[in-house]
Amino acid sequence: MGFEIGDDVKAMQDMARKFIQKEVLPRISDDEKNHRFQRDIIEKMGKLGFFGCPIPEAYGGSGLGFLAHAVVTEEISKVSGSIRAAFNMQTMGTAREIFQFGDEAQKKKYIQKLVTAESLGCIGITEANAGSDVASLRTKAVKKGSKYILSGSKTWITYAQVADIGVIYAYTDPSQRYKGMSAFVVDMHAKGVSVHPTAEKMGWLACPTGEIFFDDVEVPEENLLGEAGRGFEYVMHSLDNTRLTAAAGAVGASQGLIDEAIKYARDREQFGRPIGKFQMIQEELARMVVETEAARLMTYRCAMQKDEGNINNTLETSMAKYYSCDVASRVADGALRILGAYGYSSEYPVERLLRDAKLYQILEGSANIHKIIIAGDALGYRKANK
Ligand SMILES: Cc1cc2nc3c(=O)[nH]c(=O)nc-3n(C[C@H](O)[C@H](O)[C@H](O)COP(=O)(O)OP(=O)(O)OC[C@H]3O[C@@H](n4cnc5c(N)ncnc54)[C@H](O)[C@@H]3O)c2cc1C
Repeated sequence: MGFEIGDDVKAMQDMARKFIQKEVLPRISDDEKNHRFQRDIIEKMGKLGFFGCPIPEAYGGSGLGFLAHAVVTEEISKVSGSIRAAFNMQTMGTAREIFQFGDEAQKKKYIQKLVTAESLGCIGITEANAGSDVASLRTKAVKKGSKYILSGSKTWITYAQVADIGVIYAYTDPSQRYKGMSAFVVDMHAKGVSVHPTAEKMGWLACPTGEIFFDDVEVPEENLLGEAGRGFEYVMHSLDNTRLTAAAGAVGASQGLIDEAIKYARDREQFGRPIGKFQMIQEELARMVVETEAARLMTYRCAMQKDEGNINNTLETSMAKYYSCDVASRVADGALRILGAYGYSSEYPVERLLRDAKLYQILEGSANIHKIIIAGDALGYRKANK
């Protein structure tokens, strides 16, 4: 398989790069310090078609595909993990999920508004006692006439405070465990929905994260996504998409850190020469460059397989996600070493990008969860790709 990026994808990448440099870079440091969510930026991104790559034109997308989505993600996360998180929510977390599992009426009602950012969407899987172990969630949806009554709570939900709709996972039949989970498109302004911020985070401070409480919320039966009892299957397939975005985000953060380290190593002089001339700095930088390139290739391969129709390529998605996200943390460490004291200062972006990088190891399946998938497949215990 080749790794050629087509002209249409390159044009999208170029547009994303220019937009992020012009609209996001000048204000991101201030927005992060003030925990300010940039809705205007999300709306501008919607107008420019950033959210529509993995969505067909019939539903308001561009149909450019997963590779285009990955390269746009990379451009965003070079500068901001917060905007990358918002980007993931609008595209893979909600629009693409409704496209893959929703009925025609749901697709028509929700997708275009998400793609244009007229409507903001979140995804609610995690609960206080259900992190990696998704099946242990406790939120319930009980059928009553033509409605479901939703009760329970979610935590660590990106965008909770600003979302208009949420794709929420709940048990419709807890006795069936994996086969008793369902997914719903929930109106986040409905009676009985309340939201509180989570504990203060280390990074991604310009993107809100909250707890959501559902106090007997009435959800019309037409808001059941796909079929009742298939929620666990949907969440796993949906993670195959959001994990690609996480991998691409980690590659972008690594590249942003490398760019900063190179600039600094050329400028900073010690012992009468630029520190970039010292072999130990070069060794550090070479490792950062090679590992990032390897992560990028794994991520692009994963995206290209999806573009070829293999969207549930769980093994290659896990490999890309696990490797890229671990690389981002190692690259952040290397960049900090190269910048020394200035890397530790909030005057330089390295400190922010380091905090951005750490989250990729936690989200969308921790490193351990991906190692379980990869090793289970290698050992022949459980085939990752069905
Ligand atoms: C900023 C932020 C935004 C988020 N946004 C969202 C969102 O929008 N929607 C959403 O639903 N969730 C969201 N999450 C939650 C995120 O998906 C979870 O944090 C993640 O699934 C891991 O769960 P946990 O943190 O509870 O860790 P745990 O599952 O408690 O894991 C803790 C540690 O134990 C390890 N571990 C767990 N099980 C095993 C095992 N079987 N074998 C070996 N090791 C194991 C893990 O690898 C990890 O190292 C967000 C989290 C953060 C921090």
